[in-house]
Amino acid sequence: MTMITNHMPTAELQAIDAAHHMHPFTTNDELAEQGARVITRAKGVFLTDSEGNEILDGMAGLWCVNIGYGRTEMAEVAARQMAELPYYNTFFKTTHVPAIALSQEIARLAPEGMNNVFFAGSGSEANDTNIRMVRTYWAEKGKPSKSHIISRKNAYHGSSMGSGSLGGMDYMHAQGGMPIPGIHHIGQPDWWAEGGDMTPEEFGLARARELEAKIEELGEDNVAAFIAEPVQGAGGVIIPPETYWPEIQRICDKYEILLIADEVICGFGRTGNWFGSQTFGIRPHIMTIAKGLSSGYQPIGGSVVCDEVASVIGATEFNHGYTYSGHPVASAVALKNLQILQDENILDHVRNTAGPAFRAGLEGLADHPLVGGASVIGLMGSLPLTPHKESRAKFAGEAGAIGLMCRERCFANNLVMRHVGDRMVVSPPLVITPDEINIFMDRARKALDETWQKADKEGLLKAAS
Ligand SMILES: *Cc1c(COP(=O)(O)O)cnc(C)c1O
Repeated sequence: MTMITNHMPTAELQAIDAAHHMHPFTTNDELAEQGARVITRAKGVFLTDSEGNEILDGMAGLWCVNIGYGRTEMAEVAARQMAELPYYNTFFKTTHVPAIALSQEIARLAPEGMNNVFFAGSGSEANDTNIRMVRTYWAEKGKPSKSHIISRKNAYHGSSMGSGSLGGMDYMHAQGGMPIPGIHHIGQPDWWAEGGDMTPEEFGLARARELEAKIEELGEDNVAAFIAEPVQGAGGVIIPPETYWPEIQRICDKYEILLIADEVICGFGRTGNWFGSQTFGIRPHIMTIAKGLSSGYQPIGGSVVCDEVASVIGATEFNHGYTYSGHPVASAVALKNLQILQDENILDHVRNTAGPAFRAGLEGLADHPLVGGASVIGLMGSLPLTPHKESRAKFAGEAGAIGLMCRERCFANNLVMRHVGDRMVVSPPLVITPDEINIFMDRARKALDETWQKADKEGLLKAAS
């Protein structure tokens, strides 16, 4: 076996990576030609790559490293737990202290009446659990016909067959036989891209009422649940108009539809509260959690389940679970993460310090000729790029080309921002300081300038007609 170390030349590491490692959501042949960037270590909000560049991670990895990188207490907890009990399952009438303690702490932080946790290894797995759980719930209640689940276009709920079907990404559905039967998608509350001449408030109501129309089309007796992210993350940080969630809540209540809030990104402080449901006044029956639950230090996810659903599920054998449900090391690490979030008042930092500074910075970038505006909540935000702000016009060329160009200019300036089409999205670690936010904004402005110059030179700043 070759020992691979951080001290190998970058090109050598890239060549081995290209030869053997199939990357997710990547055209691997193209990447093999370009060579992947090799990340070697990280501390706080900064990544270091194999060339020694210090990159500000404006995405907290994949929206998950809420407490920042390099927290040695997390490593100590993992080492202690591995030495004491590295693994045991929770299937056959057994349990262990990390799963006991973590489930209690999640229940304590979750909204009133949500006192039950079913553990999974990821957000995708948890959403697969949710599909089976809501269908089993209605079957046990004597209403097995209530099995259809309504989701939204451009939603992201994971990448397995079930969760990828719940998601509304057409390019994912195009491969591998998704969506599975019984999943339906209504329009998303993306006023910027789809609101036309409506006010955001009118548009929010119109999009929420698509849920009512879909329930009536399918028949109330056939619908089990509606699933949505409080704020769509991977879809482009789409913050719904104020009218949207109250209307969705009214409709779910009226038709007795279970409401699943996918909190995988919004949970654990991202919007300034423990859960996005609290920020938006949503009363879910089930919340999907992952990512920020452990700040990405260990893979773990789960479903937080209200007492009514848990009591119905609890009365029968639920033939479902994962080898790593409630994994002791992952649970111990997640618990430590929740403790750090509380001991260091990190939610308060998001609400009162970092959040306002981040908002001011992104709103400051909105005067850039390429930026159409800024939407921000807590520490997540988006900057739609446009050739014409007033009409919110799209670019005439290929969708996403300018966004990709901007992402690459960001990387060249040691900043990670992601692009979703021609919208830049950001979601930094929650511990980012005002000084680091200034560094972020300086690098972002430089990247935007370079994008504008490059796009202008290539004649790409024309608006679609
Ligand atoms: C990332 C994500 C998931 C999937 O989580 P994985 O851990 O990648 O399986 C599900 N829902 C939302 C909202 C996400 O952002």
